[in-house]
Amino acid sequence: MATEKPAKSETESAAAPHACECSRYQVESWIGEVPEGADPGDYVRYTGTGCDATTARTFAMGHDAKLKSLLIRAGVDGLAVRRDEGGMVVTGDALQMAAAISPAIAAKVEHGIQLAAEKAARKAEREEPAAAPEPKPVRIRVRRWVYDALLAADGSATYTNPNGDVKVIPADKVVLA
Ligand SMILES: [Zn+2]
Repeated sequence: MATEKPAKSETESAAAPHACECSRYQVESWIGEVPEGADPGDYVRYTGTGCDATTARTFAMGHDAKLKSLLIRAGVDGLAVRRDEGGMVVTGDALQMAAAISPAIAAKVEHGIQLAAEKAARKAEREEPAAAPEPKPVRIRVRRWVYDALLAADGSATYTNPNGDVKVIPADKVVLA
């Protein structure tokens, strides 16, 4: 009977191979600054997963992981993500996009971004162990005068005397006021 038709065609379309979900996503980045009056389209770059798989499911095998790592990279770099909704484009940040897919993917993307941020922080620490601490504002006594000075990491203090001369007191001569 013809009455079965709608339900049947729905089932068919759900099972028909279609583009893998991950291919809908692209990360937006910029090639340099967009000059005043220029077409931003000439400067924008979209990076996707490079997927051209078709699948009867939402994702081709393993491509939910591909999408997750794409979203994590976007999140780490703070780049916008766009999703092609079949002609309409929706843009958001990595976490918003992940949340729209599923809570499980959102949790993994958030975790991945956090791990990458921690890793980057550790790397930055390793690469800049010698970064000198900022000079600390102090008050020092020079003979009978007290000056505002900056105490450097090596213990020396720099101040400006009433004549406008910048003076440096070696660490062993600094007397804090
Ligand atoms: Zn895919």
